[in-house]
Amino acid sequence: MNKTIVPKLLLMDDSDLARKIGRVALRSAGYEDVTEAESGQTALDILSAPDCDIDVVLCDLMMPKMDGIQFVRHAADLSRKPALIFVSGGEAALLQGAQDTARARNLRVLGTIKKPITAESLSHLLLRFLEPEQKPRNTDALEIIQDMEQAIAERQFLLHYQPKISVAGRKLVGVEALVRWQHPEHGLLPPGAFIDAAEKSGKIKALTEQIATLALEQCATWSIDGFAPKVSVNLSAYMLVDLEFPDRIAGKAEELGIDTQQIVLEITESGLFQDLANTLEILTRLRMKGFTLSIDDFGTGYSSMDQLRKVPFAELKIDRAFVNGAAENEKARAILDGTVQLGRALSMTVVAEGAETQEDWNILEAAGVDMVQGYFIAKPMPADTVQQWNIDRTEG
Ligand code: C2E
Ligand code: CA
Ligand code: CA
Repeated sequence: MNKTIVPKLLLMDDSDLARKIGRVALRSAGYEDVTEAESGQTALDILSAPDCDIDVVLCDLMMPKMDGIQFVRHAADLSRKPALIFVSGGEAALLQGAQDTARARNLRVLGTIKKPITAESLSHLLLRFLEPEQKPRNTDALEIIQDMEQAIAERQFLLHYQPKISVAGRKLVGVEALVRWQHPEHGLLPPGAFIDAAEKSGKIKALTEQIATLALEQCATWSIDGFAPKVSVNLSAYMLVDLEFPDRIAGKAEELGIDTQQIVLEITESGLFQDLANTLEILTRLRMKGFTLSIDDFGTGYSSMDQLRKVPFAELKIDRAFVNGAAENEKARAILDGTVQLGRALSMTVVAEGAETQEDWNILEAAGVDMVQGYFIAKPMPADTVQQWNIDRTEG
């Protein structure tokens, strides 16, 4: 193992025996140099020393004075924050809770281990330390907003498309249009770097208009080739106050000769339906004009049930938080199953997003999901590669 990239570890556990077991496991996983702490306070003292070079803390949950969850709160205040691995002999839900708490406090969590610690489980998680963290690029929000106006005028935005596959026939049924910004200085920016700023600065309207037009044009281009996946477009809830929008987008579709039934509008249930009357008017009229309405990131908002009741949604997209974790997390699995049944009962098409592994796929198939989207099928790709991708997968 390359010495320069081996993370420095702190093993925190009140039990002498548990620390001994941990030490042995760490040694056989190749980690010799391990600091130990018998309490949360000792660990914090070590971590706040100016010359401390600890990268990862193995954090026991149940400790008599300061427990692992309280330790997390203090660790979040450290100037040099370690990554965490939670270790416990208790129930799995506790480990999950600890992990979610730490992430909510912006700490990096490599994973959880149910006691006893083994060399195998450790090496697996510690390797994650070397993976680059998925952080949004550090671009100044103000600068982004200023650039955006020009970017819209210069059409610097483009769409990548991610396939949606039917579970029953394994057929390509649709693609989701996902915006990227070809920024002259920062390169290709993901939506996470600018959608928020666009929403807060009021630029989202012009941006969405451009995105919707691009997606409709792409749909028209594909249909010339006889290629006709449904095309999904993300609509920010901030757009749902513009009463003219349904007529404009329907007019655009007509102009391009596209049947509105080809277009799915994904609406994030961000609880943002401030002007309920206008929003309902807009959504109902979009439906009336033939667009399919899809409720996006289902399960993460707070007024989802109410929206399901009031809005004519035909598609339900289960958030990836309930898909990704379903294999290991019983609760995520129960929510997934329950959501599929709910969708069934409401005669909606149920789509799962964020399927990353064969295991995810199997669970989704067993749960009765209609369509699957995720890295397991394909990552979002440029428009001109979608058709070839589809040919390759059906031939191969
Ligand atoms: P979303 O609507 O939930 O879109 C799916 C996001 O999940 C995409 O990220 C996609 O690349 C990612 N993804 C797909 N499969 C997987 C998977 O298996 N694992 C993981 N970890 N991720 C997966 P992307 O393109 O970065 O978009 C992020 C979000 O930005 C979107 O989430 C959507 O809320 C927003 N967004 C994207 N395009 C637009 C747009 O045109 N307009 C608006 N208003 N929002 C957009
Ligand atoms: Ca979406
Ligand atoms: Ca989503």
